[in-house]
Amino acid sequence: MKEKIARFMYGRYGLDKLGYAILITSMILTLVTSIFGGDGNYLSMLLLIWECYRFFSKNIYKRSQENSKFCGITKSIKKKLGLMKNQLRDRKTHRYFDCTTCRNTLRVPKGKGEIKVTCPVCKTVTITKT
Ligand SMILES: [Zn+2]
Repeated sequence: MKEKIARFMYGRYGLDKLGYAILITSMILTLVTSIFGGDGNYLSMLLLIWECYRFFSKNIYKRSQENSKFCGITKSIKKKLGLMKNQLRDRKTHRYFDCTTCRNTLRVPKGKGEIKVTCPVCKTVTITKT
């Protein structure tokens, strides 16, 4: 039996981060629908069918492209959330602002008066009040 399953799964894509995200979203949708009611079960079923299609797909290149797109999106969201968390943590001691040339986020200490800040990425010098 185990060999049959292994033979069946040979060359098929399987589960990845996008797959886990689809499954978790489907489960949350089912849970929310069972508590509050509504038509979320149809969407949940569609998500499960989509994940089954991806799981058993033999087009590994296309599935991994979808996953890398998803990972790129989640990485940028995680980066923005991390920056927001740091800004909240340092709100009393530091000030954050964007570089005027490259849009890189810079952090300077508060209460130092007018200071000259050099961007570590593009080396642009900005004079700012902290
Ligand atoms: Zn810069």
